[in-house]
Order: sequence, then C-alpha cells, then structure tokens
Amino acid sequence: MMKAAVVQGAFQFAIEERPIPEPQSGEVLVRIMAVGICGSDIHGMTEDGGVRRRPGLIMGHEAAGVIERLGEGVEGWRPGDRVALDPQWSCGQCEPCRHGWLNLCENGFIFGSSKLKFTHGAMCEYLAVPQKQLNLLPDQVTFAEGASLDYVGNAMHAVNESQSRFGDTFVVIGTGAIGLVAIQIARLRGAGKIIAVGTSPHKLAMAKKFGADRVIHSREENALEVIMEETDGKGAEVVIEAVGVSDTYALAVQAAKRRGKVMALGFASNEITIPVQPLLFREVSLIGITGYVFEAAPVLKMIANGKIDVKSITTELPLEEVQKAFEMIVGKKNEVIKVALIP
Ligand SMILES: [Zn+2]
Ligand SMILES: [Zn+2]
Repeated sequence: MMKAAVVQGAFQFAIEERPIPEPQSGEVLVRIMAVGICGSDIHGMTEDGGVRRRPGLIMGHEAAGVIERLGEGVEGWRPGDRVALDPQWSCGQCEPCRHGWLNLCENGFIFGSSKLKFTHGAMCEYLAVPQKQLNLLPDQVTFAEGASLDYVGNAMHAVNESQSRFGDTFVVIGTGAIGLVAIQIARLRGAGKIIAVGTSPHKLAMAKKFGADRVIHSREENALEVIMEETDGKGAEVVIEAVGVSDTYALAVQAAKRRGKVMALGFASNEITIPVQPLLFREVSLIGITGYVFEAAPVLKMIANGKIDVKSITTELPLEEVQKAFEMIVGKKNEVIKVALIP
C-alpha cells in the first residue's frame, strides 16, 4: 500500500492508503520524490464547478521521481533512473500529434485531472506512467527542480511562440511561479526591457532579482500609465498574461504595441471581457498557449546549468502537509510562491 493525498472537496484533503499501481505494458512504476502544486490545482477546484479536480482524485501533474520497476516491453530505461514526468498524455495518431503538436492532442489529457478523464496524478508515493512521458533528469537537477518541468516548459513555450527579437520589451503580468520564470527566460532571450506587474511586494522583489527592469504594484500605481511611460508611449512587443482575469487581460491588450503579441497563459477565470478596440485597431495578436512541446529538454538543461532558477521560488513540504500547503497558497498569508510536496 502507499500514501496518497485524496481530494475530498474544494481545498479539503485526506491522506489515504491506496494500492501501489501495477505498471501495464509500456509503462514504468515511478517512486514519486517531489510533486508541485500548480495554479490549475487551485482554481481547478472552484472554477468550472470544480470538474477539473473532483472529489476522489489524486491530483498532481508536476512531478519527478525514480523508476522503481518496468512494465512489459519497456526499453531504454532502468530501475533507479531519475526522471521528470510530462503530464500531457498524447495519442500520437491524431492530426495535431502527427504535426508534432503533442500539447494539442485531440485525445489528450493530463494526469491528476478529472476534466477529460479521471486520471490520478502524483500526490502519492507511486505512479505508473507510459514510458513516453519520461524525461531523464540531469544529475545536477534535484527532484523538486525536476518537478518544475511542466510550468517552466509552459513559460518557455510562451516566450518561444512569441518569436520575440533581441531587444524587445516584455511586459509580464502576474508574478506567480510561471511569471517569475517567464521573466528569467525573457531576459535570456535578449529582452531589451522587462516590466513586471503584480500585487505582492515579495514576488515583485523576486521579479526584480530575476531581471525585471521595472516592477509595478498594480494596486499602488496605474500599470498601463507606467508601461506607456516606460515604452515612450508605444507599448511592448510582447505581453505575457499569467493571471487570467478580465482586468489583467484588458491591461495586456492595452499594453501591447501596434502589431504586438499577447501570450495568453492565464485562466483563473473561465470567461474574460477585453476592450476590443485596442486589439483591432492596433492589430494586436492574442495567442493562446497551453503546455509545451519541444521545451522539455531545454528546460532541464537550463535548470542543470543554473540558467533558470526555480529553487529560490520553491518551498518544500512533506506530502502529509498538503492541507496546510493549500491553505498557505490560498490564504496568501505566507510568502510561498511554489510548493513542492515530498511524499
Ligand atoms: Zn501545472
Ligand atoms: Zn493525438
């Protein structure tokens, strides 16, 4: 038997005993060593009537661990290999998959989600996963760092898809884990100026440390005015929206330069309202971003080489403290940015 954190209701968990899963053909059994709590684990319990994180589910899609045992027909992996899990299951057969857009698979789903399928995730001691979901962890990358693959991949995918050029101005709205990593990646990508918008002084200080040239506390300053001052009244080539409510999307659209791009990552709300004129009359592109495609290897390489820092934004807690971890994040009292649970 193994320990598992099981969803009882919105932000309610119980640690239960569950059978250790059997790896099926083509699967490996992974001993989970770290599992992150994602923003989608938070709003997935309340938005959409909570369908994304239903009671009975073991959540957790940001995970890393050690291969315990191989199922039938698995090649190229050995027990003891350290791995980071790609939570995006893809079929490999549909049209998007055949184009290589595995993040857009028509039959895809995510581990630890109950939206498209009720598939248990990694907030437990063992998980059986298809071998194609495995990424080898470089020796220098810790398990808690390896568990960041999903959200760092997401941030990197947003920057890649913006096709930004050297010297572009980036506005990053939202200073959660994804926003803070997007700032680091934008800087590495040759951003000429980075402006971060947030509401937490602690996170804004981190944003500055990671390379933001100007940070804006949006409750104390008029973010749009400051962005326009900082960009000679023109706006930014790239805006990364990493919050997902109407106000922040409205700001994103208005903060973009003529022909600028808004990379849409945030989805705290299911529906948003944006002013349409600044979008149309300045030919701003609003580009949806989900998951990642080719970014897994670069993410792990860049963490291994110290180019992306996730350690400073991660708080490690034992799995048994899952309830407390959610209370810390939802209550916003403690200055936690990202929690990695250790089973
Ligand atoms: Zn996630
Ligand atoms: Zn597919």
